Amino acid sequence: MADCLFCKIVAGEIPAGIVKRSADALAFRDIDAKAPVHVLVIPIQHVAAVREAKGTQEERLLGRLLAFAAEVASEQGLDRDGYRIVTNTGKNAGQSVDHLHAHTGRKKAVLAARLIIPPP
Ligand code: AMP
Repeated sequence: MADCLFCKIVAGEIPAGIVKRSADALAFRDIDAKAPVHVLVIPIQHVAAVREAKGTQEERLLGRLLAFAAEVASEQGLDRDGYRIVTNTGKNAGQSVDHLHAHTGRKKAVLAARLIIPPP
């Protein structure tokens, strides 16, 4: 998608700290890391958010993304002590880039802060 920041990273138009690449996913370091290890895992194909991932192909993609994030976490040495995988969807979750991404990292207190849901 032309105006999408993460699509530009996929295309190599904007530099990023690439950690791992597969046929349909990319992992790169968050530019403003909130934890000692903070990697973003995104689909190569533009999907705005998890709420847009409807249909058989998209559901399969979500499964592969989760498995890919677990591989990244393992390669980052996070298996022993554990880690979080978090995806924000929409403004109430604080999603700031409209390209589906999973935050993968340690220091759960930092990443969990993004999960606070305001009372209705
Ligand atoms: P969210 O707020 O859940 O949408 O997460 C977006 C994340 O993208 C934030 O943690 C930002 O620090 C990160 N981010 C924004 N621009 C870049 C960039 N050019 N390279 C790497 N990470 C970025």
